[in-house]
Amino acid sequence: MIDLKDFEYKELEEYIQSLGEKKFRAEQIFSWLHKGVQSYAEMTNLPKTLREKLEKETYVSTLKIREKYVSKLDGTVKYLFELPDGNCIESVVMRYHHGLTICISSQVGCRMGCRFCASTIGGLYRSLTAGEILNQVIFASKDVGERISNIVMMGIGEPLDNYDNVIKFLHNVNHEKGICIGYRHITLSSCGIADNINRLADENLPITLTISLHAPNDEVRDTIMPINRKYNISALLDACGYYAKKTGRRISFEYSLISGVNDSTAHAEELAKLVKGLHAHVNLIPVNKVEERSFKKGSREEIDAFRDKLTSLGINATVRRELGADIQASCGQLRKKVL
Ligand code: SAH
Repeated sequence: MIDLKDFEYKELEEYIQSLGEKKFRAEQIFSWLHKGVQSYAEMTNLPKTLREKLEKETYVSTLKIREKYVSKLDGTVKYLFELPDGNCIESVVMRYHHGLTICISSQVGCRMGCRFCASTIGGLYRSLTAGEILNQVIFASKDVGERISNIVMMGIGEPLDNYDNVIKFLHNVNHEKGICIGYRHITLSSCGIADNINRLADENLPITLTISLHAPNDEVRDTIMPINRKYNISALLDACGYYAKKTGRRISFEYSLISGVNDSTAHAEELAKLVKGLHAHVNLIPVNKVEERSFKKGSREEIDAFRDKLTSLGINATVRRELGADIQASCGQLRKKVL
């Protein structure tokens, strides 16, 4: 059975025409799917004969809300969604002054093995389909009853390890006949699969790329992020430079501050030198405690001192504000608990 949300718009048109139907039916179906209908019966402007044809070969995929938590502190909503095969993923809806942002997952689990990350414990189960990635936006938006205007691909999984489905998803979520979220309102976070960053640069999608850097040199990065042994910092920054040049978009870097591992003054100086040429923004994240891991965050003073050092060296750096602190909003933790 085919999930119609796995088709790109053009492919959907072709499919509908292959059923002997007019092309404009694809537009109607696409738009219904993006509104979050759960069956063909809800697509009331389609002839019954077409609905019957669709039911023979295809289905309307949905996501079940298995658990939902709303932060009393800031209104952040965390979902544990259940996929049709019983696997679970997490998505988080955050309220900012400019609207709602959703943080979505791209895989069930992850095989990147970053030492501080909860999502990679247990490895990769499977990648999400384009439809499953999109469904997080559709059904979270339906549940909160509001439009979601921004997307960050920073949930469970490595988006560039699920390249084709992520690209398909990006095309569909941006499409004017559907949810239509502008590329400039979409951020993709990667641990640094340099070859696919180069590929992404050639796709001509002006999304924001943010890189999980977390270390100022290969020595430290090798010990906390296994991907660095395949693509070292130099290869990664070359790809970032290419991305910035091709898209005209500024890259940003995430840097989780881990006490005693990557947070000294010397590390700050090294980091500043590294990213200076890219005019990048550095997002500092005090490392979140993960039960199975021994990493600790530094004190507020140490974190601020690291930021101030970067700032004094001409680097645009901020410490990420924590949202949903009371509901374990950081990804990977909820799914792990249920597993
Ligand atoms: N695979 C992608 C996106 C998922 S993780 C990536 O690596 O970018 C989203 C961000 O949270 C990444 O920067 C990741 O390194 C960071 N992260 C993971 N575990 C963390 C923890 N325990 N504390 C702080 N940040 C963490």
